Amino acid sequence: NQHILLTSRPKGMPTMDNFKFEDIAIPEPQNGQVLLKTLYLSVDPYMRGRMNDTKSYVPPFELNKAISGGVVAEVVQSRSSELEEGDLVIGNLDWALYSVAEDAQVRKIDPDLAPITANLGILGMPGLTAYFGLLDIGNPQQGETVVVSGAAGAVGSAVGQIAKIKGARVVGIAGSEEKISYLKNELGFDAVVNYREAGNIRKALKEACPDGVDVYFDNVGGEISDAALSLLNQNARIPLCGQISLYNLEKADHGPRIQGQLLINSALMKGFIVSNYASHFEEGAKQLGQWLKDGKLKYEENIVEGFDNTIDAFLGLFKGENLGKQLVKVSEP
Ligand code: NDP
Repeated sequence: NQHILLTSRPKGMPTMDNFKFEDIAIPEPQNGQVLLKTLYLSVDPYMRGRMNDTKSYVPPFELNKAISGGVVAEVVQSRSSELEEGDLVIGNLDWALYSVAEDAQVRKIDPDLAPITANLGILGMPGLTAYFGLLDIGNPQQGETVVVSGAAGAVGSAVGQIAKIKGARVVGIAGSEEKISYLKNELGFDAVVNYREAGNIRKALKEACPDGVDVYFDNVGGEISDAALSLLNQNARIPLCGQISLYNLEKADHGPRIQGQLLINSALMKGFIVSNYASHFEEGAKQLGQWLKDGKLKYEENIVEGFDNTIDAFLGLFKGENLGKQLVKVSEP
């Protein structure tokens, strides 16, 4: 067995030196517990925040302890009456080849309903983030302009498609020509901006949004968001979902002050955490599943093979290496 520890707190962009792969014994499940073999693990931008020793909505990862996150695993030994060998489950588990969990700590998943990896992406945390953040806070209306940053990622690609389902005109911002072409040609976004190529992002976004911006779903923060907020219409709504462009900054970023744009446009900007909506997850997942079945929603996954490549996969999020949900395939069922 092997697990991955956080051994020091990163300053700026994390490096391999902040982590350690350690050999450990396979743990023994006690009564009410199961032994789990990790099949797929999810690497997510929010984990960068947990590597800092700062107060947030989840406690920091502890030093010299295993990192944990979303995992799909197979029950290989059961001492629980709820789960049996061969069951597939999802839960917040250690970055390890094998781990032990209480049965109540994991949820059984049905491989016949959707590919098992979808539980970590479109039908899981990122899909639900897009669904509730966009619909509850953004509340897009027919014909309105919805701009989404981080548009080709797990959350952003779902946001854009749900906005299309609601009849909005959708503009995506992403960082490569491959992503731009995917958004336009595969997902049917109405306009796209490559922020790495655009030069003047404000000008490029203005051209893409001739009628201004009614909803800006913010995944990235920084200059991209300054540009989007400069184009707000009256009563615009801004679900503040993520700020990935700021997560690795060593010094706080003091951008242009944009509150004036919110004020003069009577705009609403609201931060949220997907778990705020936990009591509605079932309903959200059901709707997302239905849209998938109806072909109204598509998703991509970027799957890196091998537990050894987990850190590379995580760091790739900050370099834009992923189109769609970034996952690591650890072992075969
Ligand atoms: P993604 O799949 O979108 O992966 C991250 C993407 O961010 C990269 O592919 C890259 O795409 C883009 N990116 C990286 N660095 C920068 C940068 N400096 N400037 C602009 N874009 C950058 O991740 P998720 O979909 O999982 O998460 C998207 C956002 O949503 C994150 O900010 C995350 O923290 C947040 N989030 C918030 C939740 C909540 O509850 N509020 C829950 C889940 C996610 P590109 O090539 O386009 O640069």
